[in-house]
Amino acid sequence: MSGARAVVLSAGLAMLAGGCRPAVRPPPNVVLVSIDTLRPDRLGCYGGVKVETPAIDALAVAGVRFQNAFTPVPLTLPAHWTILTGVEPWNHGVVDNGMTLSAPPVATLAERFAAAGYDTAAFVSAFVLHRTFGLDRGFARYDDGPAADAALDQLLHATAPADERVDRALSWLRRERTRPFFLWLHLFDPHAPYQPPAGFRARYADRPYDGEVAFVDTQVARLLAALDRSGQAGRTLVVLLSDHGESLGEHGEETHGVLLYDATLRVPLIFRMPGVISAGEVRQEEVTLADVAPTVLALAGLPATPGVDGRDLLGPGGPPLRPLGAISEAPRRRFGWAPLIAIREAGWKFVAAPRPELYRIAEDPGEQVDRIADEPGRSVGLARAARRIETTLRTRLAARSAAEPGNEARARLSALGYVSGPRSTASASPDPKDVIRSVGELDRAFQLFAEGRLEEAQARLRALLVRSDLPSPTVLEGLARLARLQGDDAEAEALYLRLLAQEPEAPGPLAQLVRLARERGDHRTEVERARQLAQLSPADGGASRLLAEALIAAGDPAEAEAEFRRGLAAAPRSGWLRLGLARLLMATRRGTEADRELDTITSDEDVPGDLATEARALRDRTAR
Ligand SMILES: [Zn+2]
Repeated sequence: MSGARAVVLSAGLAMLAGGCRPAVRPPPNVVLVSIDTLRPDRLGCYGGVKVETPAIDALAVAGVRFQNAFTPVPLTLPAHWTILTGVEPWNHGVVDNGMTLSAPPVATLAERFAAAGYDTAAFVSAFVLHRTFGLDRGFARYDDGPAADAALDQLLHATAPADERVDRALSWLRRERTRPFFLWLHLFDPHAPYQPPAGFRARYADRPYDGEVAFVDTQVARLLAALDRSGQAGRTLVVLLSDHGESLGEHGEETHGVLLYDATLRVPLIFRMPGVISAGEVRQEEVTLADVAPTVLALAGLPATPGVDGRDLLGPGGPPLRPLGAISEAPRRRFGWAPLIAIREAGWKFVAAPRPELYRIAEDPGEQVDRIADEPGRSVGLARAARRIETTLRTRLAARSAAEPGNEARARLSALGYVSGPRSTASASPDPKDVIRSVGELDRAFQLFAEGRLEEAQARLRALLVRSDLPSPTVLEGLARLARLQGDDAEAEALYLRLLAQEPEAPGPLAQLVRLARERGDHRTEVERARQLAQLSPADGGASRLLAEALIAAGDPAEAEAEFRRGLAAAPRSGWLRLGLARLLMATRRGTEADRELDTITSDEDVPGDLATEARALRDRTAR
């Protein structure tokens, strides 16, 4: 362990002993960087040779790097709940994207730092971490990025690139402050579809995932350089990690979120704190993302949060040897497949599934040779540990401590490539490893789609439509989007109607049908469909805006104004909706009222840049 922790440890021990010695150091700043979907083997500091990652490599050299860190769940939202609480997912209950947590079992890192007098802010990059899912607790500022107010018809843009997020975080960091700060920066770029900026696309031709990793490293470099320039680096704990890896075809899985092999469970984990953590240390013990919060609190000199699962990794003696678990509920919730639980202990890894697996992970890190038949005794204890997690998880889910996603959230998640759930469990649930290739084909089709290879994407989706092991709504939606891009609106209309017939409660297809009616000038149908949509999602500013705009197009501005006001009462932070109202007020010569609405928009510092620009341009026009 690190001898340089002595300063903090002695202060901590004195506090434990009820001693009166005050903390020796002033409280440090804390910067938590979570890079979505980042495989450690792409980083130079983890032995990667194919991608240039000088900034993250330098961070590791200046701090401590955990060689064997694992996520307990290969999905963004559940993993971030674990990172920010120190509680494993089977204990906090968020096991899939789109779930909200009304009463977290413990205070989050942001709540702990806020209570300790820190200035707190989060900059996240995708709708999957939108405040509606609850991770904004404790943050004085929570910047959702473009996802904050994406209307239903702009779903696909609900992610932000790392350079834009770092710009925002840097302008927050530059503020004058007398208090220490806690900053959480979440970067999404290595997540599929892989679309690195042009320079990186050229340098990593045929390896777009690697290009995204190289790009995101340059943005981490900007953040760290700014910290150095500000003179704060010496007083700042920097933590860099990922929420999960990416399969990239291993074991038949293209992305992440279904299987529990180490391609998606292994994550990078680096802590840097000059003067406290010795530089260049590499730790080999197996650790979980649940250990991050307790370690961060200890490094900041704050007492541990009671009731967490994780351990202080840099405390005296380090973490104890313990079995580490991982769960995958997404196969059950999304596709009706069997859920998975993995247990890793003492060089072995067991995967509980309809056909369980056992790997001698210490010698077979690629999990190529299943030893379950050769080592019948070996899996008994591991299977028992898996059953304990299963029991805890089922109890937790039955207690409904985590709510299901609302309609609006489901539509946006499905636009991001997350299939809407939950689905009923089929009588004989397939083993995910037997049917994973279908998801892989779906992922490949959407990647082709993102690359603009529309006809190839279409051919793959059509082939998938006839398969029975995947729910067809995802495939139908992909085909409908393709038809739109190819200008075949009649085909798109037919596909969206078919989708609506299958899932009458799904707002996504309905929103698209509103747009299709508008574009062909059929405003009566447009209003009718938009009304249906607004009834389905009454608190959704995007749905309300579609209805108000339809009413204007149909020549009923009074009804439109009433809808704008009703929508804003239900969703007051919906800036695009407010902009629509301001436009209507201007058109009906109520400039002062319009100005008031525009000022409300521009005074919200988290509004997306393009909305703020439009609001300011309108404001200038009324001023003239
Ligand atoms: Zn993620």
